[in-house]
Amino acid sequence: MSSALPVRASRHRGARALFTGRTGGVSTGDFTGLNLARHVGDDAECVEHNRQLVAEAVGAPLVFVDQVHSADVHVLPETGPVPVVTADALVTTRRDVALAIMVADCLPVLLSDPVSGTVAAAHAGRAGLLGGVLERTVVEMARFGARPEDVTVTVGPSICGQCYEVPEQMRDQAAELLPAVHAVTRWGTPALDLRAGAVAVLTEAGVPAAAIDAGAACTLEDEEYFSYRRAARTGRFAGVIRRE
Ligand SMILES: [Zn+2]
Repeated sequence: MSSALPVRASRHRGARALFTGRTGGVSTGDFTGLNLARHVGDDAECVEHNRQLVAEAVGAPLVFVDQVHSADVHVLPETGPVPVVTADALVTTRRDVALAIMVADCLPVLLSDPVSGTVAAAHAGRAGLLGGVLERTVVEMARFGARPEDVTVTVGPSICGQCYEVPEQMRDQAAELLPAVHAVTRWGTPALDLRAGAVAVLTEAGVPAAAIDAGAACTLEDEEYFSYRRAARTGRFAGVIRRE
């Protein structure tokens, strides 16, 4: 069944990186399709089945984290079982597991360095991005010898800067910390462009702009993706990366 799972692969040398969508899973109702989250009210057996489909597609068991919009980065143990911890990013050089970050509007950010063989996955919503989760992920990758100039990044499907409407005060406070997030919706109201913020933070950390792909679909506009803004009761899709 893995070949039937439509996933958007992205180009990372030395790693297999992909983003899932709604198509291909067994969940129904509000979670129709490939919901990967247990905490949203979906049937547990459906979620397990869906997770197994993704694990087959990537060729390794998935490692998740309990995401809490923090800037905490978890470095996996070098061998053995991987406990589920509370964090918002994962880093490893292991080949026997795949790192998974679940989202429904937030940014799923996949990073890899083919030189050191380091891969990482990060969850960057407004709080995590402003809190420094991406900078800290790059720093943790460097502990394995990954140099920022060798890192490739894909920012997956997420809410775009023309859709992510926020109160003006929130927009202005965020832009004070990270000017690149300042945006306006298509209909002229205050917004945040978290993708532009991610690109700014990563380039500031030394990742070449040309090595960052932030052109994915908008989750609010494209119904192939779960969007919390579109429906509060909904599933989660994932960004997944595995060292090859
Ligand atoms: Zn949009």
